[in-house]
Amino acid sequence: MKRIIAGNWKMNLGPNQARVFLSELTKQDLSKKAEWVVFPPFVSLAETQKALTGTSISWGAQNAYPAEKGAFTGEVAVPMLIDLGCRYLLIGHSERRQFFGETNDSCALKVQTAQAFGLIPMLCVGETLAQRDSNATQEVVTEQLEKGLSEAHKDKPLTIAYEPVWAIGTGKVATPEQAQSVHLAIRKVLERLLGPAKAKETAILYGGSVKADNAAELAKQADINGFLVGGASLEPKSFAQIGSVPL
Ligand code: PEP
Repeated sequence: MKRIIAGNWKMNLGPNQARVFLSELTKQDLSKKAEWVVFPPFVSLAETQKALTGTSISWGAQNAYPAEKGAFTGEVAVPMLIDLGCRYLLIGHSERRQFFGETNDSCALKVQTAQAFGLIPMLCVGETLAQRDSNATQEVVTEQLEKGLSEAHKDKPLTIAYEPVWAIGTGKVATPEQAQSVHLAIRKVLERLLGPAKAKETAILYGGSVKADNAAELAKQADINGFLVGGASLEPKSFAQIGSVPL
């Protein structure tokens, strides 16, 4: 399968900065072996659509409300994101779980709504340090998948990002062995939930302090199908370099 290299901008790069960033990014030599994706904040999606239409780079949103439209002040609906050319929807990022009350049940509704309208969910799962230290990684990730994918459609595209919470924005990257063992466990859960064919074709991205200098070893692992990058995606050159490793 084609690898995915995705950049989560979080709450960075408003419309003016996004325009400058994307004009730089489109000048980079981005590996053709990967699909490149950016996740700008909502307010920068229109600029992103302008800058990236006609290029091979895709974009998506960092969140959405799981309803078609209606009286949900302050929220953004999936059809609006489709209007802005989005292809992906990030769901259940650990910062949303930690700071905004995102639960496995709300993730399930978002996965269902995204797929219903034609966005590709990128469901984020991962354990905290305390959970890893108490050997609960597999159990936590399994529950996040079982609940988060309870309404998933197995004939529609889906992606998963394994992001150990202790590795996000900390500079502490999972070792290739640690990451591969969880990715394999995720693949097995997907097999059980959605069937072997779907499990095989579903990209499982690793996220957590990925940079060009640690991406190569991670990319060699059999079940790591790409990266979800935070900090290093905010600089066009460092983001592009992540795709320069053998993919
Ligand atoms: C993320 O926010 O999804 C992430 C992985 O961040 P970082 O690469 O900065 O650890």
